[in-house]
Amino acid sequence: MTEAKLHAGGCHCGKVRYEVTTAVEAALGCNCSMCSKKGSLLTFVDEGAFTLKSGESELTDYQFNKHNIHHTFCRTCGVTSFARGTFKDKKMVAINVRTLDDFDLDAVKVKVFDGKSL
Ligand SMILES: [Zn+2]
Repeated sequence: MTEAKLHAGGCHCGKVRYEVTTAVEAALGCNCSMCSKKGSLLTFVDEGAFTLKSGESELTDYQFNKHNIHHTFCRTCGVTSFARGTFKDKKMVAINVRTLDDFDLDAVKVKVFDGKSL
């Protein structure tokens, strides 16, 4: 088991910055119609483990399908750092692990997440 630790991350231009406490054990490649275009790799955390440090007003909120996930992206640089939503009645945040600072993507397994069926 990887231990949970504090990670910082954010978008490309630096307006959106966040912190998250989690153990990233795998990166989920979602097969939904949007993620398959975007190439985000996700890890899911409880809402309480996530803190948006800056950039709330910089986010554009994009919704589609059942509108239960808020797919946010930075309106300046376009990078998706995270999405907020309710998964199985729990408020969760899906972090795009590609936006974590100093994160070694080669150190984790990439698995398929069946977002298409949600
Ligand atoms: Zn940005």
